[in-house]
Amino acid sequence: MKTIAFVNQKGGVGKTTTALNVAGFMALRGKQVLLVDLDPQGNATTGIGLDRNEITVGTYEVIVEGAPLERTIMETEIPGLRVLPANRNLPGCEIELTPMIARELRLRKAIEHCGEYFDFILIDCPPSLGPLTLNGLVAADSLIIPIQAEFYALEGLSQLLQTFHLVTANLNPDLTIQGILMTMFDGRTNLAREVQAEVENFFAGREKVFETKIPRNIRLAEAPSHGKPISHYAPGSLGAMAYSDLTEEILSAFEPEYVPPPEPHVELLKEPPLGQPPEEPKITEL
Ligand code: ATP
Ligand code: MG
Repeated sequence: MKTIAFVNQKGGVGKTTTALNVAGFMALRGKQVLLVDLDPQGNATTGIGLDRNEITVGTYEVIVEGAPLERTIMETEIPGLRVLPANRNLPGCEIELTPMIARELRLRKAIEHCGEYFDFILIDCPPSLGPLTLNGLVAADSLIIPIQAEFYALEGLSQLLQTFHLVTANLNPDLTIQGILMTMFDGRTNLAREVQAEVENFFAGREKVFETKIPRNIRLAEAPSHGKPISHYAPGSLGAMAYSDLTEEILSAFEPEYVPPPEPHVELLKEPPLGQPPEEPKITEL
């Protein structure tokens, strides 16, 4: 089991979009995936089609009250993809965690026995570096940092790296940065290329910047209101292709022998016998 946290204390950079869509493509590739919604806004929960008002136990009860995961995890419509949802109580979590002993370790403790059930746990962090995000960093094996390709993209990154170093020095020495992901990227603009150069310069080759860049794509923005990841909402869209490529990049880091699945095989059409309608093309599912 590998646990990846999507983190950046800057708001609206694509953390939830990335966590949801990587989860969708991993499930499509046959992985058993748990998506953990650590954000009181609950965007990953609603984005996967769950109604927050109907959730009585969620991340809050697991972290603060020690509720068992078995009672809390919810199925989704997508085989292989389950969610630890954020319910209405989660906003109070940061305050209640503050006086608790070993408060940063609570999510880690809750998920550490899940190894036999899940291949990947993906944690969607809130836009802050408070106790909830710290729980995410301590529970994770690696981090993916989405950065929006815009002005001020680097704002806050030094503080994020400082928090990362504090966590590796004190709480989770094995935590690594798996990669930096450029989101809402339009390679035709000078700004996007400049920001990419700045980001690469900032990390100066120490951290990997994913080769896959996520373009701005309307389908990605629409998908959450349909309660589906892009893999199941608009699989042919540019956004879907980008997140499919990113998922393969991520999987190949964990499984060096990972071979991407073949493209769907489209059978060549035979000429129809005279007077009969042409055959529909047959597409073999993966
Ligand atoms: P927060 O910090 O509030 O949790 P976030 O970092 O999780 O935000 P998202 O919610 O994923 O960011 O994205 C912010 C907004 O931008 C959302 O409305 C989302 O639908 C949209 N968005 C994200 N990525 C893309 C994209 N590649 N193309 C178009 N819209 C996008
Ligand atoms: Mg979010």
